[in-house]
Amino acid sequence: MSTNTVASDKVVLFHYTLTNDAGDVIDTSDGHDPMPYLHGHGNIVPGLERQLTGLAVGAKLSADVPPGEGYGEKSDRPPQPVPRDQFPPDVDPQPGMQFVVQGPEGEHMPVWIENTDEQHVFITFDHPLAGETLHFAVEITAVRDATEEELAHGHPHGPTGNEGHHH
Ligand code: ZN
Repeated sequence: MSTNTVASDKVVLFHYTLTNDAGDVIDTSDGHDPMPYLHGHGNIVPGLERQLTGLAVGAKLSADVPPGEGYGEKSDRPPQPVPRDQFPPDVDPQPGMQFVVQGPEGEHMPVWIENTDEQHVFITFDHPLAGETLHFAVEITAVRDATEEELAHGHPHGPTGNEGHHH
């Protein structure tokens, strides 16, 4: 397989625009550098990763990703109230903010703020895009081998692999 083809353990750089069913732009790399990700390591939603596999540099893709291969279905659990004083004093909780909490087994679980009132912050385990079909317009701009360090970390370290980064 060509070294310029999207495959596991390759770092892929791509431009993307993500829209929802209504045609609203949710996110885009337009006006920014292409986004790098490490293929086969769950850096991007499964449905997009699957459809990018095997594409070459310069390829353009329109990909529709259903919730099951995107950010999941919406659960029917209502948002759970958390007392405001459980948040650090320097944090001003706002709808849409993401936090990571520890689950019962010590696992890390992402949560999002749904809304707030005087005393509470209401959190949900649903990703803000849960239940949405995602529409991606993608152009692949570069594909390269990952470095040992990138493979060990499971994510890319910038466009060339030599950029410093913060953990
Ligand atoms: Zn790293």
